[in-house]
Amino acid sequence: MRGTVFHGPHDVRVERVADPEIKSPTDAIVRITRAAICGSDLHAYHGAMPAEPGFVLGHEGVGVIEEVGPGVTRLKKGQRVVVSGLVACGGCFYCRRGQPSQCSESGGAVFGYGKNAARNLGWLGGEQSEGIAVPMADYTCYPLPEGIDDEAAVFLADILPTSYFGALNGNIRPGDTVAIFGCGPVGLCAILSAGLFGPAEIIAVDTVPYRLELARKLGANPVDAAKAQDVILNRTNGRGADVTIEAVGNEGALNGAIMAARGGGTVSVIGVFMGPTFEFPIGLAFARDLTFRIGLANINAHIPELARCIERGAIDPRPLISHVLPLDDAAHGYDIFNARKDNVVKVLLKP
Ligand SMILES: [Zn+2]
Ligand SMILES: [Zn+2]
Repeated sequence: MRGTVFHGPHDVRVERVADPEIKSPTDAIVRITRAAICGSDLHAYHGAMPAEPGFVLGHEGVGVIEEVGPGVTRLKKGQRVVVSGLVACGGCFYCRRGQPSQCSESGGAVFGYGKNAARNLGWLGGEQSEGIAVPMADYTCYPLPEGIDDEAAVFLADILPTSYFGALNGNIRPGDTVAIFGCGPVGLCAILSAGLFGPAEIIAVDTVPYRLELARKLGANPVDAAKAQDVILNRTNGRGADVTIEAVGNEGALNGAIMAARGGGTVSVIGVFMGPTFEFPIGLAFARDLTFRIGLANINAHIPELARCIERGAIDPRPLISHVLPLDDAAHGYDIFNARKDNVVKVLLKP
């Protein structure tokens, strides 16, 4: 089969790779029908992750079950599923508490980063490919109802649950002002997710005009990052936002999110941070009684409720899709997404 292989920084190529195989009784093989490129794939693309070349990228995909191992009980051949980016068992202490990102059986492994993220599962495949072997398939795959098409469903694999996790961690209440730092695909999904909790206003912060324009179409009030602190204070009688969500994974945005939160407010971080330390303004956090939340989203635990929201029309992530490219054009997809060319927001790949 073909897959999108990481060769080094700024060098990904679609080429022949080994066909996926059932290696454990709880594995399933999924033929991918739609995949997506994620902002966190760009960390690998930039060479910012200690990733050895040669692995297949991608942790966001939708497909059809081709084969199941003898230990798979809830899936059958021919079923349409979303494959969560996060592998989890569904039965351990953490999974039963709704925290699959801490799954003790998978180690919180994520597809699409080779062996570095795979921990005790060995070498994991990537979803930007024609097919993938899915470990712990009963809880890593989620069967899709007819009412959700592939292009909406691919958002369930990561960024919609991730943004929803950020909104949940923010403890948004009806009437709140929520400020979202970053209008990349995750930040834009956070507008949709935050909206489920009834805020009075969502302020979306970014520096890229076309992304701010899309934020506006999704129901947020857009503001350029340079003016964000002033605008947020002005719109909250000088208090600051009740909840701020950091959806970039950079220290500038994180500082902005901390500074913009009101006394007693919550800062919820869903951007990917991999650095060992961050200079945290602990005195300010103490004086302002801030709550600080951060974590890898419990994707699998949130797919069912978000699938229901898509199915019933409460959420539609498809306006984020700017490009649907053949899998063979994945390198072009990475190039435009990385360089923000061609008004790119979310790039889908079609094997
Ligand atoms: Zn992702
Ligand atoms: Zn588990």
